[in-house]
Parts: sequence; C-alpha cells; structure tokens
Amino acid sequence: MSTLEINNLRVSVETNEGPKPILQGVDLTIRSGEIHAIMGPNGSGKSTLAYAIAGHPKYTITDGEVLLDGENITEMTADERARAGLFLAMQYPVEVPGVTVSNFLRTAKTALTGEAPALRQWVGDVKNAMADLRMDPDFAQRDVNHGFSGGEKKRHEILQMELLKPKFAVLDETDSGLDIDALRIVSEGVNRVHADTGLGVMLITHYTRILNYIKPDFVHVFVEGKVATEGGPELADQLESEGYDKYLTARV
Ligand code: ADP
Ligand code: MG
Ligand code: MG
Repeated sequence: MSTLEINNLRVSVETNEGPKPILQGVDLTIRSGEIHAIMGPNGSGKSTLAYAIAGHPKYTITDGEVLLDGENITEMTADERARAGLFLAMQYPVEVPGVTVSNFLRTAKTALTGEAPALRQWVGDVKNAMADLRMDPDFAQRDVNHGFSGGEKKRHEILQMELLKPKFAVLDETDSGLDIDALRIVSEGVNRVHADTGLGVMLITHYTRILNYIKPDFVHVFVEGKVATEGGPELADQLESEGYDKYLTARV
C-alpha cells in the first residue's frame, strides 16, 4: 500500500513577464488502488499540477511538497521519480529518432529495475501487452513517437505503463484526440493495470466522457489553481449536467 500526498502545493510558471503563480495551495492524497479524477475548466491549473509532479523545469514549486510514501519527490530527477514508482506520461520524449519502441521500452525497464529483463519473458510480455491494446506487432519496430497518430501516442503511453508497473500514474488528458474505439481500448488498459497491480491513478480530464469507462473513486474540481470542491463519482455526473459555472468566482 503506497500513498502519494500533495500538501499545500503552490506552483509558479515561468513566463516572459516573470513567474506567474498558478497553483494556490493544493492538497490531495491518493492511495494505491484509488482512481482520482481531476476536473475543471480550461486554464484552472490541472496540467500545471501534472508538470509540477513531473518536475518540468518551467514550473517552480514555491511552497508545499509532494510525498511518495513519505519521501519528498520534488527535488528528485525524472529518473529518480520513475524509480520511486511514479509514471508521468508527459516526461517522456516527444520523438526519439533511431530508437524503436521495443528498445525504448526495454531500456526504460532496465533503468527502472537496475537489470535488463530476461529477453524471452520480456518479448512475450511486450507482445501480450500490445495485443491487449490492439496494437499491430509491427509497431514495436517503429521509432518512438515518429509519425505516431494521436491514438498511437496514447496507446504507447498505456503500453509503457503496463510494462513499467508504476505505483502511481498521472494521466493528463489521455482522452483528448481519441475516437470512441481508441478511448475504450485505452481506458480498458488503464483499468487492467489498476486491477492487476493496484495502480493509483490521477486522471486529469476536461470532459466527463472518459469517466464512463474509467470509474473514479474520487473527483476533485480545480478552479483558479485550487480545489474548489471534491466528492465521489456522483460529482462528475453533476458537473456533466451543471457545468463548472457555479464554482467560478464572479469576474468583473
Ligand atoms: P489546465 O490544464 O487546467 O487547462 P494549465 O495548468 O495548462 O490549465 O494552465 C493554468 C494557467 O497557467 C493558465 O492561465 C495558463 O495560461 C497558465 N500557463 C500555463 N503554462 C504557462 C506558460 N508556459 N506560460 C504562461 N502561462 C502559462
Ligand atoms: Mg480501485
Ligand atoms: Mg491541461
């Protein structure tokens, strides 16, 4: 049983005009086996939270902490965060020319565990995980992210998650740009890893659509860099019918 605990997190983003405060003190705790949906209107700071947890250099933590099983991860390198058990889709390179999906995954797994996985077992694991995600076996020999469609990128993300077996995954807008079939397949992948390994999930989404496939235990609504309200899965249904309006402060 592991815990990812975010305490009073304040984050600024570097802009041309200097640092701009975005997150205004976020508290959130995720335990193994829990699925938390982070929802909220555009610009409310959802991606900023994901980038801050990933350690993106443009996002500065000005206060607060992120603890994984009591250990502060905010000073760790990306590799150290991964070894601690965090899966942050956005930390992976956009495109890696000359590196096949197959080699990339094996290198990532080796870096994570400290030893190369036994080849025969590994090849079988990759093949099975790809079949589960309805991926063409030829995909393993393509260069990472080179010419991938939106749907292929998302499947590749979930494939990594399935093979790297993290404790916690932060998935930012995994639903964006997916058609209905791809959304279902990707969602089933998340559900499978969650059911098999007790993965804790932070599922960031603008729309409630993906929540028809991935059922959250908790829903947190971000507004203006803060958690405006939180509740159980019924909150997502309420947002679907009522929108975010009532959580927005009146603007002049
Ligand atoms: P969300 O993911 O909820 O749509 P973001 O975290 O992407 O929101 O953005 C939150 C706020 O931070 C927005 O007002 C956005 O314009 C601002 N912001 C984020 N990144 C940058 C950046 N690199 N430069 C300037 N402003 C940014
Ligand atoms: Mg669960
Ligand atoms: Mg975003």
